[in-house]
Amino acid sequence: MSEWNLSGVKFEGDKTEQVPLTGLNVTKQHETKTAIFAAFRSNLADPQQSKYIVGGSIGYFGEQKLPAGNTEYGLATADHMEQRAKTTHEFNQGRIGFDKPAVMAIVVGSEGGYAGSCGNCRDVLRDTPGAIEHLTMVDAFREGGSAIVFSFKDLLVDSYPQKAKVTQDEETAINKAIKETAHPRTSFDVYGKSPLVARRTYALQINTDEGDHTWGPNTDHAFHTTTAAEVAQIMMRQDGNPFFHRAVFVGAETDGSPPDVLYRDRQTLSTMNLDQELLIGQEFNPDILLATYDKNKNISTVWETRLKDMLPLPFTPRNFGPEFMEYLKNEVRKYYEP
Ligand SMILES: [Zn+2]
Repeated sequence: MSEWNLSGVKFEGDKTEQVPLTGLNVTKQHETKTAIFAAFRSNLADPQQSKYIVGGSIGYFGEQKLPAGNTEYGLATADHMEQRAKTTHEFNQGRIGFDKPAVMAIVVGSEGGYAGSCGNCRDVLRDTPGAIEHLTMVDAFREGGSAIVFSFKDLLVDSYPQKAKVTQDEETAINKAIKETAHPRTSFDVYGKSPLVARRTYALQINTDEGDHTWGPNTDHAFHTTTAAEVAQIMMRQDGNPFFHRAVFVGAETDGSPPDVLYRDRQTLSTMNLDQELLIGQEFNPDILLATYDKNKNISTVWETRLKDMLPLPFTPRNFGPEFMEYLKNEVRKYYEP
């Protein structure tokens, strides 16, 4: 029988460091282990294509922890455990969201490390009422050992330092992105007009050594939009050039905050970055600029960060283990260097 011990965790870019656990009393620690056990015992994972089993559980502290798991369908498409756990919780409560402290456990095999939630699951959970305030997460291995405990909100990064001095090169790139954003064919975004998502209707410019290009979202009529970075990913892969040193997000000024970059887009940019890392054979952390513009299309504010600092505890193919990474490296090389 596996045994788990709980630890706290500190996120630094895409690296994690275990630290002493704080903020959970003895009763909640005991319940967190109960949640791990419920996830360990869950038989609701059925990933027929990847075979990557993610056991999960969800429940309020002081109440039963219900099992969840990941499933797959279509062509390499997944219903992730986190989304199924959210639905299970809401079904069980008969209402939407979380109105008091709850815990979600994630249990996977140890060979690929802790399973961070993907960008899309972060988008799903952050838009679930009460999740940011109330959700504790615990990430554990099926074999037992250390389990890391953190708040769901620790996975979210939405403020960045303002850039004190914008270089000429950066200003030129941002101005070009703003100009291209106005082009009628940069975006097809008939559903992106709700004031709720005003900060999320940005365009994305990718800067490569061979020039740059700006992409926006592409709406699907069934409300499953292909977002800006996903459009960029398709175009860059078709072009056979995954190399980029910087990405620039530009959006119209709203409340003085930077564009609200979808976690799904951060995930997609990380995918493109992994393509280039596998080709160059070393780790790389691209620069990110975020800028807003006023109604005269002049730059209002510029913020800066780096890609890996926008997505703590990322889900990557490294989670599938070292053997899969060797296979992936060969596939990526065959694709870009046929
Ligand atoms: Zn996910």
